[in-house]
Amino acid sequence: DPSTGKFTVSFIEGDGVGPEISKSVKDIFKAADVPVQWEKCDVTPLFINGLTTIPDPAVKSIYKNLVALKGPLATPIGKGHRSLNLTLRKTFGLFANVRPAKSIEGFKTTYDNVDLVLIRENTEGEYSGIEHVVSPGVVQSIKLITHDASERVIRYAFEYARAVGRPKVVVVHKSTIQRLADGLFVSVAQDLSKEYPDIELQTELIDNTVLNVVSNPGTYSDVVAVCPNLYGDILSDLNSGLGAGSLGLTPSANIGHQVSIFEAVHGSAPDIAGQNKANPTALLLSSVMMLNHMGLADHADAIEKAVLGTIASGPENRTGDLAGSASTSSFTEAVIKRL
Ligand code: NAD
Repeated sequence: DPSTGKFTVSFIEGDGVGPEISKSVKDIFKAADVPVQWEKCDVTPLFINGLTTIPDPAVKSIYKNLVALKGPLATPIGKGHRSLNLTLRKTFGLFANVRPAKSIEGFKTTYDNVDLVLIRENTEGEYSGIEHVVSPGVVQSIKLITHDASERVIRYAFEYARAVGRPKVVVVHKSTIQRLADGLFVSVAQDLSKEYPDIELQTELIDNTVLNVVSNPGTYSDVVAVCPNLYGDILSDLNSGLGAGSLGLTPSANIGHQVSIFEAVHGSAPDIAGQNKANPTALLLSSVMMLNHMGLADHADAIEKAVLGTIASGPENRTGDLAGSASTSSFTEAVIKRL
């Protein structure tokens, strides 16, 4: 915005604890003088002819600003409605889901050296939704893999590795069994790797990855992993469990050709909503990914340091999910003091 010198970002505050953790982000951005102004977006879904759609002003806001931060959305109960998250993904063509998983000082988990990055193909594979009954008791579910969708997500993985200074891309697959489908994914990666001579390409069978990552996660600290949809869904939660040890601490990014949406991995936490108890860390770390994506790395580093430093500083500064006694607002104040 030339009149204010600030970037405008669409903000979907979300349901349940969404508004509380969103306030924490807004307060911290203000205190840190981040050159971002928010445009609040309402994505309360509309159900038109059995289709879930997002209100037009929200779609326009996100296409105008190209970057959005999103709190958790409660999936409406009742059959036949596509989840709002899936609707957002389809509406904006968000083809890659980026999930870092990192150990956090101050919250002990099995390992303290976890630093994983996984990129999941987010539009096809086992999630194509093509299933049918062949005959009673026999069903078929189609895993669709295309050259184009594979290429755009693998290219993004190479570009991401370059941008964050990781020297290796690991393609996780099962092409020994899914010869054509995963075979295509692997061969696209091999072709693309010629364009990225500075990045080493390794291919790895998913069963080996799972065993390696749970027994020695440190060996993936210089790696960006990329895989088809279902493997990515499962592996990313495994990584989160190994890393921070809690989905409540895990950020993510949904990347499209134009639009990118950054969001916490956890849900709307209805059991603690409105009680000033929620941990805003996952949304804060998502906002840190967003700032890096926007080229505001100094602001990203300052906020990340303050958040992680606050968590490490003692149980009085940690929220209940991390066995601490802080509230959402007292944690936020402690982060602001540390900036
Ligand atoms: P949830 O993540 O909301 O909650 C699981 C547990 O984790 C709860 O005990 C909750 O209190 C705790 N928790 C989650 N976030 C926390 C935080 N920031 N601080 C402290 N504790 C936290 O999962 P759920 O209960 O299965 O789902 C609730 C709703 O959220 C459902 O409507 C679901 O569809 C939706 N959901 C949305 C998203 C999303 O928008 N990306 C993701 C998952 C679930």
